[in-house]
Amino acid sequence: MTRRRKRTTQRRLNCRKATSLIAAYLAGELDPLQTVAFENHLRDCADCLAFLNTYKKTIELAQAFLKHSTAAPKPYRPRCPVDIEAGR
Ligand SMILES: [Zn+2]
Repeated sequence: MTRRRKRTTQRRLNCRKATSLIAAYLAGELDPLQTVAFENHLRDCADCLAFLNTYKKTIELAQAFLKHSTAAPKPYRPRCPVDIEAGR
């Protein structure tokens, strides 16, 4: 057996780190650097790519379900819950 070491200029993500970033990645909340690192990892790692696709599908199904079950037109929540203060 021979071991080859590749020199990479960019920091590599491990799978645990990559999977922890998936939700933020899909929400568009990652830094540009994190996004690049994440996408580079997906290119090399079929496991994480498959996990991302599964995750995406789950979100799509959940959103499709919410669309049918509620009248709310917006899929995401507002940033500032001002109504709480107004209620008192
Ligand atoms: Zn991975």
